[in-house]
Amino acid sequence: MSTPARQADGQVIAYPIGDKLYLNITDRCTLTCAFCPKHRDTGPVVHQYDLTLHHRPDVGEILAAVGDAARWQEVVFCGFGEPTLRLKVLLEVARAVKARGGRVRINTDGLANRVHKRNVLPEMAGLIDSLSVSLNAQDEATYVRHCRPQLPGSWPALLDFLAQAPRYVPEVTATAIDGLEGVDIEACARLANELGVNFRRRILDEVG
Ligand code: SF4
Repeated sequence: MSTPARQADGQVIAYPIGDKLYLNITDRCTLTCAFCPKHRDTGPVVHQYDLTLHHRPDVGEILAAVGDAARWQEVVFCGFGEPTLRLKVLLEVARAVKARGGRVRINTDGLANRVHKRNVLPEMAGLIDSLSVSLNAQDEATYVRHCRPQLPGSWPALLDFLAQAPRYVPEVTATAIDGLEGVDIEACARLANELGVNFRRRILDEVG
């Protein structure tokens, strides 16, 4: 299934890849990843989609870009930014997508509780079907080296988020990118298992 990206004001808010629709709602990040494609010469481009945002879309613009949510296998919050930084907008959109019969996933850095200074997971219950959380390392030193978090205490906050998430969200998967120096994928998988969540190995620059 392939349709053009849904644009508003000349910017891509929703972009289809296969049978999933991805939502690009912010370009702000909590991390400053050393491997981030956003900072390369090509800019924030995924497949053929330029995800540069000139302004942050509001709920109405995002829902207009989504259209019929039920036609997609999944509607995924995922751009070159951390979607939970716009938590209120994200949850409003998720509520509407669910009401339209869609399934909702967030691809996240897992730092929402650290950023918002409260446990936001109960607010996701019933609205978010799946979380894909960037674990990206088996220990704090490796995490800090590659992900360069802006907030102190990010690593323990990420682990705590992962451990708590399955109580509120049916499907929780930690991910790590294979091929980053010092990242031990097997150890990442063991850590995810200890935290009680699934694990998926990712390939650098591959959206999913
Ligand atoms: S979280 Fe994603 S968009 Fe943000 S800095 Fe890291 S790789 Fe780049």
